Amino acid sequence: MATNETDRPVLLRNGLVLTMDDAHTVLTGGDVLVVGDRIAEVGVGLTAPDGALEIDASGGIVMPGMIDTHRHMWQTAMRGYGADWTLTQYFVWYYLESGKLFRPEDVYAGNLLAAIEAIDAGVTTTVDWSHGLQTPQHADAAVDALEAVPGRFVLAYGNLQQGPWEWATSPDFHDFVQRRLAGKGDMLGFQMAFDVTGDPAFPERAAFEVARELGVPVTTHAGVWGATNDDGIRLMHENGFMTPGNVYVHAATLTRDSYNRIAATGGSVSVSTESEQSAGQGYPPTWQLRHHGIPVSLSMDTSVWWSGDLFSAMRSTLGADRSREHLEAHGRQETITHCHLRAEQVVEWATRGGSRALGLDDVVGSLTPGRKADIVLIKNDASPVMFPILHPYGHVAFQAQRGDVHSVLVNGRLVKHEHRLVGIDLDRARREVERTVEHLLDSMGREAFDKGMNPDIPETKVLDNPYTYTEWDAGSAQWKR
Ligand SMILES: [Zn+2]
Repeated sequence: MATNETDRPVLLRNGLVLTMDDAHTVLTGGDVLVVGDRIAEVGVGLTAPDGALEIDASGGIVMPGMIDTHRHMWQTAMRGYGADWTLTQYFVWYYLESGKLFRPEDVYAGNLLAAIEAIDAGVTTTVDWSHGLQTPQHADAAVDALEAVPGRFVLAYGNLQQGPWEWATSPDFHDFVQRRLAGKGDMLGFQMAFDVTGDPAFPERAAFEVARELGVPVTTHAGVWGATNDDGIRLMHENGFMTPGNVYVHAATLTRDSYNRIAATGGSVSVSTESEQSAGQGYPPTWQLRHHGIPVSLSMDTSVWWSGDLFSAMRSTLGADRSREHLEAHGRQETITHCHLRAEQVVEWATRGGSRALGLDDVVGSLTPGRKADIVLIKNDASPVMFPILHPYGHVAFQAQRGDVHSVLVNGRLVKHEHRLVGIDLDRARREVERTVEHLLDSMGREAFDKGMNPDIPETKVLDNPYTYTEWDAGSAQWKR
């Protein structure tokens, strides 16, 4: 295994290069040269500078690092625990019952493991949709973990235990922003993460005003069945808070009116297909977003239920979109004879879709000289699935998987090589996460712990508004009593 920590140039040699530049240039037998933290050259037959580390990319696909625009990274400490949950059970477990039990070290543990998992899977930029930041110590722990792993991250600051107008206006939050986020450049970005319940009094206004003052984009779970709906979008729009930097997560249960408002104000939607398919936010909305011309990025939401790699996001998004198109056509007694959503488009969403959504499109997202070197080599000589490579985008979306990620560079640094992470202490992450699981088991007791993981099937219960910080119930559009 090699390393370039001493600033050695890296030359990826003789691969199938998907540049994802504006023209979607594809090079056969292509090379990508990295010098310092940037892509220096992309071409065929490049000359290796003295001392360069050459990586043989033959038989593989070289592409930009993937970008996940919505991960609750702290929840990775409970990986797989909620496999059989609905959204209701998720809300009950995290918002009402057990979310409060997470200590700063538990946020650290989850973030650390999620951050390592991301770069291992070729996800070089991840938005940490961090809504477990109950105290400034929790927030410090979240950033400590992100800074301990050589990936590119965006902290989307949130706190599900308080109204956004409370935490966003607190001196603690302002102090934290100055201490930990100001001046971090493109390795640690910053968003504010909160939801808009549709309460006609629009208490979220104060948080939006703070975001505007700080010049920080807002990311918000929108169009989540029973929790957020068109009212939240309308209130944001009527009050002048829909801006191009906004990221609308899910945007699944919305009407044309909301999609028109999003399209008109230049925001983008983060689609978490695996999540929407099984939690119940609404049908994965790409089939609608495409019609409205709304930009899309992809995300995995949370490893408490689902996988954490964008191969799954691409695959499930293609499947859901095509499935819906067929279903709608069959309802009209028609047949879809040509797929409208192509594999190339979801690879674009997994790369450029993310860089555009995060305002990083001149920094990452494509293999273009001058951009920061966030690069993935998909190559696995031991795999029967890596040949023939005939349709490179289809190969990425439907054939490859995270075990095929051979090498990863972030900001010019080789963080994975020959299928092994470089300079990552995975055992430490394992110990940290074990302590968190132990703590939760102790605090909850074995019976409640097991019950939380294996919800029984009771009579149907309508979701109560999980946002306990307001008295407005979006589900019934009434004040709670
Ligand atoms: Zn989410």
